[in-house]
Amino acid sequence: MKVTGTLVNYYFHCKRQCWLHANKINLEDNSEDVRIGKILHELRAEGNKNSEIAIESIKIDKLTPDYLIEHKKSDANIEAAKWQTLFYLKILKDKGIERKGKIQFDEKNKQEKTIIYVDLTEDIEKRLQELEQEIIDYCSSATPSPAILDKKCKRCAYYDYCYI
Ligand code: SF4
Repeated sequence: MKVTGTLVNYYFHCKRQCWLHANKINLEDNSEDVRIGKILHELRAEGNKNSEIAIESIKIDKLTPDYLIEHKKSDANIEAAKWQTLFYLKILKDKGIERKGKIQFDEKNKQEKTIIYVDLTEDIEKRLQELEQEIIDYCSSATPSPAILDKKCKRCAYYDYCYI
């Protein structure tokens, strides 16, 4: 299987979600949050034509001379967004494109946007390599971890699947 940025993000958000997505149980389209994310994405794309870049299995929101820029609709899981962006930075670096990462959280009800910066280091690159194997091993297991109700579940596309 091919590890994608989405899988890396889900692995940090919820391992069960990562397994479900990797095993083609895709309920994202039913989720209000995913729809809001798509609309925000389309609006940004309209105002900034051709900013999205696709390289192999990854889609990058924007690439400037200094930064790979990722937009997220919520700062509910900063750790997941950080590792997803670092994963993209590594893929770009392997292609000879070196950038720093800038993650912008465009929360609906917040005037001020949260912005964080990430960068690759030797240790992070080593961790990314281990992480990729961990995700492959976990998603190849016969069943996912059990669902454990948490406040993050309320906004998850898999809520109905896990609890109803
Ligand atoms: S509803 Fe909760 S347990 Fe189920 S996949 Fe989503 S976050 Fe994980």
